[in-house]
Amino acid sequence: MVKMSIGKQDVIIIGGGLSGLSAAKLLTERGLNVVVLEARDRVGGRTYTVQGPEFQYVDLGGAYVGPTQNRILRLAKELGINTYKVNEKEQLIHFVKGKSYPFKGPFPPMWNPIAYLDYNNLWRTLDEMGKKIPADAPWSAEHAVELDNMTMKELIDKLCWTRVAREFATLFVNVNVTSEPYEVSALWFLWYVRQCGGTRRIFSTTNGGQVKHLEVNLSFLQERKFIGGSGQISERLAERIKDCVKLNRPVVRVEQTKGTIRVVTLHGEEYEADYVISAIPPALIQQIHYSPPLPPLRNQLIQHVPMGSIIKCMVYYSRAFWREKGYCGTMMIEDEESPISLTLDDTEPDGSHPAIMGFILARKARLLLSLTKAERKQRICQIYARVLETEEALYAVHYEEKDWCEEQYSGGCYTAYFPPGMFIQFGKYVPMHNQSRFLPNNVVVLF
Ligand SMILES: Cc1cc2nc3c(=O)[nH]c(=O)nc-3n(C[C@H](O)[C@H](O)[C@H](O)COP(=O)(O)OP(=O)(O)OC[C@H]3O[C@@H](n4cnc5c(N)ncnc54)[C@H](O)[C@@H]3O)c2cc1C
Repeated sequence: MVKMSIGKQDVIIIGGGLSGLSAAKLLTERGLNVVVLEARDRVGGRTYTVQGPEFQYVDLGGAYVGPTQNRILRLAKELGINTYKVNEKEQLIHFVKGKSYPFKGPFPPMWNPIAYLDYNNLWRTLDEMGKKIPADAPWSAEHAVELDNMTMKELIDKLCWTRVAREFATLFVNVNVTSEPYEVSALWFLWYVRQCGGTRRIFSTTNGGQVKHLEVNLSFLQERKFIGGSGQISERLAERIKDCVKLNRPVVRVEQTKGTIRVVTLHGEEYEADYVISAIPPALIQQIHYSPPLPPLRNQLIQHVPMGSIIKCMVYYSRAFWREKGYCGTMMIEDEESPISLTLDDTEPDGSHPAIMGFILARKARLLLSLTKAERKQRICQIYARVLETEEALYAVHYEEKDWCEEQYSGGCYTAYFPPGMFIQFGKYVPMHNQSRFLPNNVVVLF
C-alpha cells in the first residue's frame, strides 16, 4: 500500500465534476484544506468539451443552461465564461408519420381535433398532478404510493385516448430523462418535471430555464450554451485550486475510525481527513467499500437508482442549409427507425462550423450501440435528409459522437432515475440535490 506524504486534510472530495469542484472552491475560499480525488484523467465528469480542427470545440456532455440556473451561470461569469443563445429564430420541425411539420413554440401543434384535446389534456393533467407533489417530500403526496408503483407508461396509457398523444408523451419522457416511460416511476417523473417548472418549461429552448427550488435548478432543453464549452468551468475551477485536484485517483475504500476518515484509491494511495464529501452519481457509490458499512437503506438505495442512456451526436456541414430553408435546426422526430429523437442547431456563435446536435435516447441508445460509428452517422444523415427534405444533409463534412453508456465513471447520463416503487422507499435517503443536473452544490456528506 502506497502511503501519501500529504498531511491530514479538513475535507476529501470524491469526484472532480462540477459538484465536487464547486464544493472544493467554496471550502478553500473559507480557508479549509481540501483534496479532490478524481477517477478520470480529466476534470468535468458529465461535462466534457473537446477541441479539434474540424469543429474547434464541442460539448460532448452537458451543455445547455437556462436563465434560472443562477448558480452555474454565476459561477461561469466569475470564471470569465460567457454564454450565447442557441439558434431558434426560424421554425422548428415535428416529423411524424414520415412527414415534416414546421412549427413555433415548445410543443408541436396537433391538427386532428380529438388528438388536440387529448394532447392538451395530457400536459394540463401532468402539470396539475405535479403541482400536488410536495417538492421536498414527494413521498408524502396524496396517492404517492399508487403513483410511485405506476410507471409513466401506465400513467400515459391511462391519460391518453389517442396513439398520437401517447407516442409524443413517450418522446417527452425519452428526451427529459433519457429513459423509457415503462422504466420510470410516475411519481418521480411528475416530481422531476414539476421541479423543472412544468411540461412547457422543461421542453422549451427559448426562455426554457427552470424554477429554483431547494437551491437546485433542474433543466433540460435550455436556451444557452457556454462560449468555448461547458467543460471550461471545471477546468478553470481546477486551475484555481490546482494543488488540491488529484487526477487518476478512483476511490475504492472509505474507512471511518475514531477521529479520522481514511480514503484509499485504486492504486493504493491513502488520504486522511475529518470529513468526506461524495460528489459522484449515487449508483457509482457501489464501487466503493465502506467501513463501517453505509446505513442499510442508503446501501439499498444505491442499488436502485440507475442512470439513463444516451449517445450525443454532432453532424457538421459546410453550411447551415437548414437556416436557408427557414428551419432553426430543432427537430422532434417520431419515427422508430430514426436513431435521433431530438436535435438542436449546434453551429458556433460566430456562425462557424455549422452543425446539428442530436440525441440518441434510452431504448434507441441501447439498440444502436451495436452499430459502428460510421453506421450511426450514415443513419443520422439519412433521417436528417428526410426531415429537412434535402439531400444536402447526406453530405456531412465531419461527425462526432459520445456514448455515455460506456463511461465507467458516469454509468450513463444525463442523470439517475427512480424505477417504479423506489422513490417512496428510498427517495428520502438521497438528498434532492443529488438528482439534479449541472448543479454545482450537489454534495453529500457521508459521515
Ligand atoms: C449528454 C449529456 C447531456 C446533458 N445535458 C445537460 C443539459 O443540457 N443541461 C444540464 O443542466 N445538464 C445536462 N447534463 C447533466 C450534467 O452534465 C450533469 O448533471 C452534471 O455535469 C453533473 O455534475 P456532477 O459533478 O454532479 O457529477 P459528475 O459530472 O458525474 O461528476 C462526478 C465525478 O466523479 C468522478 N468519479 C466517479 N466515481 C469516482 C470514484 N470512485 N472516485 C473518484 N472519482 C470518481 C467522475 O469521473 C466524475 O468526474 C447532461 C449530461 C450529459 C452526459
